[in-house]
Amino acid sequence: MNNGMTRLEKYADITVEIGLNLQKGQTLIIDAPIHASEFVQQVVKVAYDRGAKVVMVEYTDEQVLRTKYEKAPEEGLKYYPEWKAKGYEKMAEDGAALLQVFSPNPNLLKDVDPERVSMAQKAIAEALRPFKSYQISGRMNWCIAAVPSKEWAKQVFPDHSEEESMQMLWEQIFDVTRTNTEYPVQTWKDHVETMNRSVRFLNDHNFNKLHYRSKNGTRFSVELPPLHKWMCANFTSETGISYVPNIPTEEVFTVPKKGSVNGVIHSSMPLNYNGYFISGFSLTFEEGKVVDYSAEKGYEVLKSILETDEGAKYLGEIALVPHNSPISNSELVFYNTLYDENASCHVALGEGLPIALEDGPEMSREKLAEMELNESLIHVDFMIGTADLDIDGETASGEVVPIFRNGNWAF
Ligand code: ZN
Repeated sequence: MNNGMTRLEKYADITVEIGLNLQKGQTLIIDAPIHASEFVQQVVKVAYDRGAKVVMVEYTDEQVLRTKYEKAPEEGLKYYPEWKAKGYEKMAEDGAALLQVFSPNPNLLKDVDPERVSMAQKAIAEALRPFKSYQISGRMNWCIAAVPSKEWAKQVFPDHSEEESMQMLWEQIFDVTRTNTEYPVQTWKDHVETMNRSVRFLNDHNFNKLHYRSKNGTRFSVELPPLHKWMCANFTSETGISYVPNIPTEEVFTVPKKGSVNGVIHSSMPLNYNGYFISGFSLTFEEGKVVDYSAEKGYEVLKSILETDEGAKYLGEIALVPHNSPISNSELVFYNTLYDENASCHVALGEGLPIALEDGPEMSREKLAEMELNESLIHVDFMIGTADLDIDGETASGEVVPIFRNGNWAF
């Protein structure tokens, strides 16, 4: 059935069938910028073909948004219509699915007073909290997929014309989302199964310690909390729908035990933090805490990250991504976490994810701390995977099992 389909149609197919796994009779809410309308139109077609009851598209005009940030009175910035927030909540309650089309414009907020922006964003976040809780807690099937914007394309390919860079970014997106394969939906099913297999392998072994080493100087060990579980971004909603919230996704991840990291970690790719670059950096850990660090570029930014709060000096995530994967093979920096986070093995400084602990989402903050989960205002991923990275797992009985050899799964 793929013969004759355009790539945009295939990409829409992946988004609806794999990402959302939209069900017959479901309402689909689409949140998208107007410049992504061509993609949205394809998604709407696929959604109705799959038996959607109705598709509600909510377009944002980012120039209008910018003008609001600049010119609206404060009471306008703080306003979000209650009926609209209630409407979203009602749709979620009635079993709707949500697609967020992501198309960042890195220049949009240039020279806008950040205080006014955060005032408006806070008002939106507060008004939509009941609706978003359906998304965060997995009570609905949802998905984020990206579409190029002129500004984003120019950021990734600065030496090309606007038109060329747009084409090049589309090409890369089709590549890393596996749209450029003959049967993309089947390719995705296989890929999700591969990730789930790795998850099962890691959970079955119930490792309590991992050892990393790479020729770039990375050599450290990390313990895992007793209640940790390995996961990948293939979730099942409370309504029983299996979905993949991020297109693309490559990572298999869990949380480290706070206070257990010892050794040195070298970055393998530059870290883009709010538009600032940190590269060639390394962190030395003792009993979980960063005690020394260096950076070829962006030392001050790294310092400010580490000094955010006490938890910023501890790790909150460990993720495994094969070195041989589409994003890593592209050798590009996408300036976009959805993509860059999936480039290689990474760890995150800061907040640990409660979902990666058995019953974690139901635990209080105190209980999570007792379970040795790190707490911080930040969660900053950075890439540490290399072509020669080896990782061993150690079980409670001291058995050592290879997990990664030469940057890829060892089993
Ligand atoms: Zn991650």
